[in-house]
Formats: sequence, structure tokens, C-alpha cells
Amino acid sequence: MSDSLNIDVAIVGGGIAGLWLLSHLRAHGYGALLIEGRRLGQGQTIASQGLIYGSSSYTLAGAGAGAGAGAGAGAGAGAGAEIDRTADKLTEIWRRCLTGSGEVDLSGVRQLSQLQYLWMPKPRSSWLNRLIHPFKRKPAIAIPTGIDCPALLSQLGVDGAVYQLDEPVLDVASLLQVFAERQREAIVLNRGSLVLSSDGAIALLAPERNPVTIRPRWCVFTAGVENAALVWAPVKIRTVHMIIVRGKHLPDNVYAHCLSDGATPRLTITSHRAADGSVIWYLGGQLAEEGKRRRVSQHLREARRELTRLLPKADLKDAQFTTLRIRRVEGPRTEGKHPDKPGVSQNGKVIAAWPGSLTMVPMLAEAVVQRLERNGLRPAAVSLEPLADWPRPEVASYPWDNEQLVWQ
Ligand SMILES: Cc1cc2nc3c(=O)[nH]c(=O)nc-3n(C[C@H](O)[C@H](O)[C@H](O)COP(=O)(O)OP(=O)(O)OC[C@H]3O[C@@H](n4cnc5c(N)ncnc54)[C@H](O)[C@@H]3O)c2cc1C
Repeated sequence: MSDSLNIDVAIVGGGIAGLWLLSHLRAHGYGALLIEGRRLGQGQTIASQGLIYGSSSYTLAGAGAGAGAGAGAGAGAGAGAEIDRTADKLTEIWRRCLTGSGEVDLSGVRQLSQLQYLWMPKPRSSWLNRLIHPFKRKPAIAIPTGIDCPALLSQLGVDGAVYQLDEPVLDVASLLQVFAERQREAIVLNRGSLVLSSDGAIALLAPERNPVTIRPRWCVFTAGVENAALVWAPVKIRTVHMIIVRGKHLPDNVYAHCLSDGATPRLTITSHRAADGSVIWYLGGQLAEEGKRRRVSQHLREARRELTRLLPKADLKDAQFTTLRIRRVEGPRTEGKHPDKPGVSQNGKVIAAWPGSLTMVPMLAEAVVQRLERNGLRPAAVSLEPLADWPRPEVASYPWDNEQLVWQ
């Protein structure tokens, strides 16, 4: 085996950002190689809720906020229209890819749902509340008409206005798996700590093998929170404290956001199946954001209370709860609003990139490729044959399948 390999682009980090970029670059003829240090998606991607946000999320959550952010992001009126267009374009790119007709072939990725629901809880109607907040629930922007509450949600006790969002929810493990299979030859595992030498070379290490020196013309870091180690990259990190519920009597098809008066939904619920077949509810939104400093026991008490308040008929008798504290890397903010574009930063021939959300990953890949082209990089034929028997990383497992979790 050769101990040195010249390539166009080395990508460090195999979450959704690195994997999408790898596919995009290779589809355009670039000799790209992705280097993963642990498991594919072992960071934010496998811990995400899998929601793709279109403009409806932005609009409806904006209504709840009085103006502002979507189920995952947002902005004020002028910028809002622009963000809506971008969000719709990105959702459309995802849809095309999921049907196998887009720039990246995602046919075979499991969609947990084609729809998301969004509901507005009824305000407490005390005379005092009405006096203090007379206009609180008046939407600041036009919103689609609510639908009759779907049986699923009314069985859980939802009785406010409900909106149906035509936006998919993905099984992110299957998303990672599809990339791992389709791009196998261009994804390698590095067992050592990753060192980028001053001439841009990276030593690829694996037990009982001679190191291989990768010599990329450009290097792109899509290493999630680890991008923060690049001191020149303005990475912003936000901790969230997610709740995981495992229950025999929970329905397995709830994908819904409960609006708050603020920019983030009060609660976002997605449903999943654990490896042992049990139903999982994964809870994010304001509950997870506000809980970042809570102790686990305190956070679990609050989560039970919030579920009982918002879904009073949910059967939580046998439910077990646990939490996941995780750091989320954000995109840049426009005028202090939620991120509406991916972060891309450059230092010489090294780029750091982070999407801010799954939804924005196609935009990130496009931005990186444009930057490489602007800097004169042209595709060159590269054979990855010398790495044909190099170890490949596995795909990460869902947080709820971690055997170390303590359920309460
Ligand atoms: C709890 C939570 C819920 C979310 N829900 C949603 C959602 O519903 N919808 C949405 O659009 N977005 C959501 N997001 C955001 C979304 O998940 C992230 O923006 C996205 O997954 C980031 O992908 P990434 O590839 O940049 O990073 P990551 O997924 O963190 O991947 C980074 C990769 O780099 C690897 N790595 C790190 N250091 C090295 C190194 N030195 N060498 C080699 N490899 C390395 C890691 O092992 C990992 O595989 C959520 C995020 C969180 C935390």
C-alpha cells in the first residue's frame, strides 16, 4: 500500500454536514475523502429530532411568537419572507433527494412521518389573564386555517387550534446508513487524534497498519462541536437538555410542536422505536432549552409536569424517563435572530463548516463548493484504491439505545 495519497478535499467529521458535502463534491467530480474519528453522526446528527423545517414552521411559530422564529428558527418581517423562500427551497431539495431525483440520492432513507403538527394551547381564561394579555394570542402574521384536531392528538388531550405542516421527519440513523453505504469507498476511520500538519497533510492511523499520509489540496472541517478547536472559526454552541420517555402506552406516531409565546416551541415531540421495540418519545423545544442548567431529577419532574399540562390524557403510568444533555452548534445569527444560514469560515486552505440544522445542510454543501471554486479548485481524478481495505466507521446508535442510560 502507498503511504501517501494526494486528493482534492479531505473532509474531517462524518455527521450529516460532512456526508452531504462528500456526496456533493464527488458528484461534481472532486477527489474527496471523509475522515471520521468515531462513528458516523456521533454527535448532533444521531441526537437530532429529524425534523425538516419548511416555511410553514417558520410562519406558524412566528405567529406564536408574535413575530419571529420557526419551529427551529426565525426572523422579523422583511427578512422573514426571504427565510420563508429559502426554507421552502431547502425542503424541496430534501424532498427531491428523498425520492432519488435530487443532487444526492437519498432514496431508501426512512421517513418517520410526512407531516408535522403544530398546536396552540388554549390560554388560561381567567379574568386576570385576559386583562393582562388581551392580545397575546392574536397572530402578528397571516397563518393558514387550523384543521380539526387529529384523533391522535385529541386522544392525548390536545384541544387548541391545530395546524398540519407538510414537512417530513426523518429516521436519521437510516439517513446516515444510506450515506455510509453509497459513499463507502470514500469514508475512512481514523483511530488517532487528528493532526493537520503545517503543509496541510493528515496522518491516517489504524491499529496494526502503517499510517497513510493524506495530502489534500483543501481541508474542510465538519466536526460539529469539535470545530470550536479551530480558534479562528466563530462557532457558537448552545447546550440543550433533551428528555427521553419510554412507555408501553405511548402512541408511536406523534410529531408535533406546541407553540409558546416565545421564539421556540414550548415542546417538540417526536416518536421513535428503540432497538428492543419499545416506543420512545423524544422531547425538545423550550423544555430542553430551559432545562440546560437543571439537575436531572429536577428536569424530569418538570418534564412530567409539562407533559401532563399539555397532553393531559397521555398515559404515562408505566413510562420511564431519562435525559440527554447535548451541545448544539448554531449557525450565524442575523440581527440577533435565530440562525438562518450555515456557518462557513476559512483560514488559508482550511474551511470550517457547520449547518445549524439538518435542513440547512444542502445550503452548506453549496456554499463550500462555491468557495472552493472561487479559490480555483477544479476537480481532478483521484483513485481511492490505496484505501480499499482501510477500516470504515460504523453508524452511531440512537441515544435511547445506550445501555448506560439510567431510566427513572
Ligand atoms: C438535540 C438536537 C436536536 C436537533 N433536532 C434537529 C431537527 O429536528 N431538525 C434539524 O434540522 N436540526 C436539528 N438539530 C440540529 C442538527 O442535528 C445539526 O445541525 C446537525 O446534525 C449538525 O451536523 P454536523 O455534521 O455538522 O455535526 P455532527 O452531527 O455533530 O457530526 C460531527 C461529526 O464529526 C466527527 N468528529 C468530531 N471530531 C472529529 C475529529 N477530530 N476527527 C474525525 N471526526 C471527528 C464526530 O464523530 C461526528 O461524527 C438538532 C440538534 C440537536 C443537538
